[in-house]
Amino acid sequence: MTGAAAAARNLAPRLAERAGGYDAAGVFPAEDFADLRDAGLLGLMAPQRLGGDGAGFADYTEVALELARGSGSTALIYNMHASVTGALAHTPDELARALGAPDWFFQERDRILKAAADGALYAVAMSERGAGSRLSQLATVYTAEGDGYRIKGRKTFVSGAGHADAYLVAARSADDPAKVSQFLVPAGDGLTVEETWDSLGMRATGSHDLHLDVVAPREALLGGLEGLALLVAQVMPQWLVASYAAVYVGVAQAAVDAAVAHVTARGVSELPLVRARIGRADAAVAAARLAVTEAARRVDQSPGEPETNQWVWRAKLLAGDTAMEVAASMLAASGTSATRRGNALERLFRDARCGALQPATSDVCADWLGVAALGGDPYADSETPRW
Ligand SMILES: Cc1cc2nc3c(=O)[nH]c(=O)nc-3n(C[C@H](O)[C@H](O)[C@H](O)COP(=O)(O)OP(=O)(O)OC[C@H]3O[C@@H](n4cnc5c(N)ncnc54)[C@H](O)[C@@H]3O)c2cc1C
Repeated sequence: MTGAAAAARNLAPRLAERAGGYDAAGVFPAEDFADLRDAGLLGLMAPQRLGGDGAGFADYTEVALELARGSGSTALIYNMHASVTGALAHTPDELARALGAPDWFFQERDRILKAAADGALYAVAMSERGAGSRLSQLATVYTAEGDGYRIKGRKTFVSGAGHADAYLVAARSADDPAKVSQFLVPAGDGLTVEETWDSLGMRATGSHDLHLDVVAPREALLGGLEGLALLVAQVMPQWLVASYAAVYVGVAQAAVDAAVAHVTARGVSELPLVRARIGRADAAVAAARLAVTEAARRVDQSPGEPETNQWVWRAKLLAGDTAMEVAASMLAASGTSATRRGNALERLFRDARCGALQPATSDVCADWLGVAALGGDPYADSETPRW
């Protein structure tokens, strides 16, 4: 286990203690993020030369899984931050230069990553009402204005909204609608949070709506190039697809842990049917964890390979479905007393339900994998665009 994963494991009990309160209030877990910051975890993906840990994708999955055993919401907000910093840190310089990234992009990238190592938090504002996370359908637009870009639109489901230092915003060019670009827009004037998040699970993510009518500086354009969003989704699916997987394996494990504590305290742990549910859940979580670990190992060793990407989509499907099924079974094993508000299992059951709904949804993952297994091209052979 890395030092960062050990730090996350040490923090998990504190996150777990607070998770019920933040869930009930439906508010951003500020104390959790103060702890993450103090432990240096916001700099996990930043290179060591900039004060970070220089972590790989496998290191991230270990950290996210440990955090999620404490609080799914906190781990999910952290996942968004890691996606921004990880994708930036792991894009090879040669690739960025080959695509045409200007020199200033490399300075800007280093500034963003150094700020993360110093404790800055980044959020992702991709989804929109009516479009979900399908980049090809986004309505938020940008136009060149002065030295920068005016970005106008309305985002939804923005985890950590109002608490991030900057937001990764996906937007379409008004002049050339085929171009969907990514910006890292600093918090401040021109961004307004509308508190709309009152949902079934992951309630403490505070995934509110974000309204944008802002002029972002030229340097906010990630990569220094327009039209990169769909390419990044296809080339680095791990940050859009599999990074959630670790979170939901952690939530599933937390559901097993909570059920073990509950059935033991309740005196029903020796009932054979209860024991068998715990045994099946234990095996299912271990299997999902192995799939995530295998995907992560391949992402670090051979990123972008077809076989790697197949594991990335498998990991997301298995983690999302396992979390949902295991949490439901653990509730069945524990009984009605575990459905009371305030019981950890009641919250974990709701949190676990979200995994299969986050992009790529379990259905979309299964379709992608089905096309691949049938010998097709899962990106091209689809009636609807994947993103
Ligand atoms: C707890 C939580 C936190 C979130 N945090 C963030 C965040 O920080 N930032 C952010 O940008 N978003 C976030 N999201 C939003 C999420 O990532 C998705 O964008 C959103 O859930 C999808 O929107 P939707 O409700 O329109 O459903 P959709 O994903 O559009 O799904 C609706 C239906 O269409 C199907 N479908 C979707 N895409 C395709 C496709 N390509 N091909 C075929 N069928 C498809 C689905 O399987 C489903 O049946 C969060 C969501 C949750 C639950």
